[in-house]
Amino acid sequence: MNRNDIFVIYGTTLSAMTAELLEKADLKEQILEKADALGIKPSGMKIGLKPNLVGAIPAEQGATTHVEIVRALVLYLQAEGFRNLLILEGSWVGDRTERAFKSLGYEALSREYHVPLLDTKKDHFIKKSYEEIEMEISKAALSLDFLINLPVLKGHCQTKMTGALKNLKGIISDNEKRHFHSLGLHKPIAYLNKLICADFVLVDGICGDLDFEEGGNPVAMNRILCGLDSVLIDSYIADTMGYAPDDIGYLTIADKIGVGSKHLEQANILELNQDTTKTKPSSSRRVRKLAEYVAERDACSACYANLIQALARLEDTGKLHGMEKPSFAIGQGFREKKSCTGTGAGISSENSFYQKSCIGAGNCTRSFSRYVPGCPVRAADILSFLSDL
Ligand code: SF4
Repeated sequence: MNRNDIFVIYGTTLSAMTAELLEKADLKEQILEKADALGIKPSGMKIGLKPNLVGAIPAEQGATTHVEIVRALVLYLQAEGFRNLLILEGSWVGDRTERAFKSLGYEALSREYHVPLLDTKKDHFIKKSYEEIEMEISKAALSLDFLINLPVLKGHCQTKMTGALKNLKGIISDNEKRHFHSLGLHKPIAYLNKLICADFVLVDGICGDLDFEEGGNPVAMNRILCGLDSVLIDSYIADTMGYAPDDIGYLTIADKIGVGSKHLEQANILELNQDTTKTKPSSSRRVRKLAEYVAERDACSACYANLIQALARLEDTGKLHGMEKPSFAIGQGFREKKSCTGTGAGISSENSFYQKSCIGAGNCTRSFSRYVPGCPVRAADILSFLSDL
C-alpha cells in the first residue's frame, strides 16, 4: 500500500468487510516496515487502537466506532502475531469514557481478547509543543510504536466534518480539549497531528451523522475505508460529504505543515466492490426531510447517502429553499427512463435552473436529459453540476 492509496469497501457485513480490507491493504506489511525502521521485534510492537467513543452513544446513532470493526481488527492483528495491543480513548469533556467502553461493547471485547483498555483521561500527560501551541498529550499514546486511528466518517457543527485528524483529540487531556476549542479547533488539530499522527487509518463510514459528532442523524453510507495518510483520508471524507478539502480549515493547515496531502486528485482510490444494499427509510427526521427532494427507486445505499449529503450542503447554504419536491431522481428503477416526473409542474422563477423534470443522480439515470454520472454518484459532483448550471 502506498501513501496515496485509499481502499474502500461497501456493504453491511462489518466484520467480513474489515477483514477483507485489512488483507487487501496489507496492514501487516506496514507494521513490519515500522518495526524494521524502529529496530524492534515485530511481535513486541506496541500497537494502539484509537476508536471514536465521543460518549456512550450507540454506533447506529452515527457517533461512535462500531465495536465489530475494532474486533475484526484485533482478530487480524492477533492472527498475524501482534499481541501487544492497547485500545485507548478519552470521551468528550463531561462524559466518562468507562461508560462508553461498557455500554458500547468495548469492555466485553477487552475481556474476550485480552486487550487492555485505557481511559486517556486518567493517563499522565506530557507537554509537547509545535510552533506557538503547547499541548498535553497522553503519555501512553506517545509511547506507542504504531498507532491505528479508527474514526467515524461524520459531520461536526464547528469544523463541518470529523475524521482522522480530529479523532486524535481523544488522546489529549480534558483541559487541552477546552483549550483547543478556545483556539478555534483548526490550528491545534493540525498541530496535534504534527506531534503525533496515525500510522494507519481505518474509517468507520457505516452510518456517520450528517451534522453532529454526538449523532442523531445517521446516514447509511455503508462503507469502510483505510489509508496511511490521515490528511488524504480526511480529504476523501470531506469530498464524500460534499465539501472541498479547502473548506475544512485544519486540512489546509495540516497539508501546509507537512502532516499529509489534501490533494485528493492525486489519490489512488481503490474500491474493492460495489454497494448493492438497497436503501431503507431513515430514522432521522432531518434525513427524511431532505429525502422529500428525492424520487428514489431501488437506489443503492451508498449512492443515495451521497445524494443526501449533497442535499444537506445545499440546505446549509440556503439553496434548497424553493426547490421542487422531488428535484432529483436516483436508483436502478430509473434505468432507461427519461425523467421521473414526465411533464411535471412549473418552475419558480428564482430557481430557474431547477427544471420541472428531475435531475438524475448516478449512472442509472443516464437516459435523463440532465444527470450527474457516477456509480455511486459523488456528492461533490452533484454540487459542482448544480453550480455549473
Ligand atoms: S448509479 Fe450505481 S450505485 Fe447508484 S443506484 Fe445505480 S447502480 Fe446503484
